[in-house]
Amino acid sequence: MMAVMAGRAVVVGGGIGGLASAVALRRRSWQVTVLEQRSSISEVGAGITLWPNALRALDATGVGDRIRSVGLAQVAGGIRDSSGKWLSRTDTGAMARRFGDGMIVLQRAELSTALSVARHRDSNLDQGDVRRRRRQRDDQHQGRHR
Ligand SMILES: Cc1cc2nc3c(=O)[nH]c(=O)nc-3n(C[C@H](O)[C@H](O)[C@H](O)COP(=O)(O)OP(=O)(O)OC[C@H]3O[C@@H](n4cnc5c(N)ncnc54)[C@H](O)[C@@H]3O)c2cc1C
Repeated sequence: MMAVMAGRAVVVGGGIGGLASAVALRRRSWQVTVLEQRSSISEVGAGITLWPNALRALDATGVGDRIRSVGLAQVAGGIRDSSGKWLSRTDTGAMARRFGDGMIVLQRAELSTALSVARHRDSNLDQGDVRRRRRQRDDQHQGRHR
């Protein structure tokens, strides 16, 4: 069996994708630095629906059960057009029978927090590995629009 050596990684962006990548790497003892341009790592926006494949990916990062416990199981779903006519419907019962999970709805901030906590829990590194880079031009841009 080939030995996999722990390495070092820099993840650019502390969104859901970046944090999940950081957690997965740290679970394999990689040293990870997350660079986020915003002043804090927190999700903007409201809710998010997680499908079974997303939940399985979160299981691999160790936060799947936490997310299932704070989320609401969505019993029905689908996509409507602007007149309200259904374009597609999702049978979450059939989905759960086939994949082991239906869909879970939760606040984006809950997901982001769970990943942030896991990123530090699964590592013996200190917690100061998030470097916030606010680009001066972003600040100037915001200043112009205040
Ligand atoms: C309206 C809407 C509804 C959605 N609903 C769902 C849903 O219900 N279910 C679902 O699974 N998906 C949904 N999605 C998609 C989902 O939100 C995205 O796939 C997911 O958030 C992408 O995560 P990400 O980490 O790749 O990117 P992002 O969340 O965009 O994160 C990127 C991060 O990188 C930072 N960044 C960018 N450039 C730099 C830089 N140069 N230096 C440092 N930091 C940088 C940004 O500030 C940001 O924090 C929805 C998307 C939208 C727009």
